Amino acid sequence: REMNASVEEKLVLLDGLRNAVQATLDGVAGSPHGAHGNFRLLYQPKIDLKDGAIFGVEALIRWQHPEHGMVPPQRFIGLAEESGLIVEIGDWVVREACRQAQAWVDAGLPPVTVSVNVSARQFEEARLVERVARALDDSGLRPELLELEVTESLIMRDLQKSVAKMRELKDMGVSLSIDDFGTGYSSLSSLKTFPISRLKIDKSFVSELADNPDDQAIAMAVISLGHKLNLRVIAEGVETEQQRAFLRENECDEMQGYLFSRPVPADEIEAMFDRQMAG
Ligand code: C2E
Ligand code: CA
Ligand code: CA
Ligand code: CA
Repeated sequence: REMNASVEEKLVLLDGLRNAVQATLDGVAGSPHGAHGNFRLLYQPKIDLKDGAIFGVEALIRWQHPEHGMVPPQRFIGLAEESGLIVEIGDWVVREACRQAQAWVDAGLPPVTVSVNVSARQFEEARLVERVARALDDSGLRPELLELEVTESLIMRDLQKSVAKMRELKDMGVSLSIDDFGTGYSSLSSLKTFPISRLKIDKSFVSELADNPDDQAIAMAVISLGHKLNLRVIAEGVETEQQRAFLRENECDEMQGYLFSRPVPADEIEAMFDRQMAG
């Protein structure tokens, strides 16, 4: 009976997901239409550790559900991936993030890079590069302002194909970064062949950074490896002043985390820039 319940739960969730995709694509955002709600993006600022300025944001998806409230990605990305819905969802995320980033440009904000998480199935889909090109074209966003975050495990599923695809994106002007670095498997020799510009230290190494010597060693090793490969290094999940101080002292370039801000709606990002520009 337990198994049936979980299968049924999954089917209900899947049905909801399908409907939410449709509602999102139909553009019924915020309206009580769509009994299954729709998707929206929140943005978390990325901070330069040297001067404290916001240089970019990471787009993070939420499923706004009329009954369940804001459903976090951990609850539905897996199922979206399994069912293939992730391709449509991911395409919408790229398009919406590009649209928003160009809206910030149009509003006169300093250039802010928008980063989008790409999942395995979405990355492997044959038309990914075409879809990204299209999103850039339709939004008018300079490719340099778009970054895609991919994981080591995604790349390693088919190393040669992945690197070729990453090159195509890079040639288009889009940047790539390795997300959750250190939690997946990629050899150091393959790392040097990735056409990437940034490594992101996973928050699992950051959470106990203040007093765990192992995590300190890992963070320092990633920073030095990244710099030797000419990459920028960003730490995610920075929640405390001690963590920030450690990262700064050890020459990490950038940070992201609740210490500075949680993921927020686009208009709050604008307000942050207004405050930053006011001094
Ligand atoms: P991620 O890419 O590793 O993103 C970092 C997660 O940590 C986000 O959770 C973010 O809200 C959270 N976070 C940020 N700062 C802090 C902090 O200081 N402390 C703690 N404890 N957490 C922090 P979120 O938004 O729930 O996303 C979870 C995961 O879902 C992401 O992990 C990413 O893998 C995936 N995801 C999110 N949006 C998308 C999307 O549009 N497409 C795809 N394919 N995956 C997405
Ligand atoms: Ca990410
Ligand atoms: Ca991730
Ligand atoms: Ca992570």
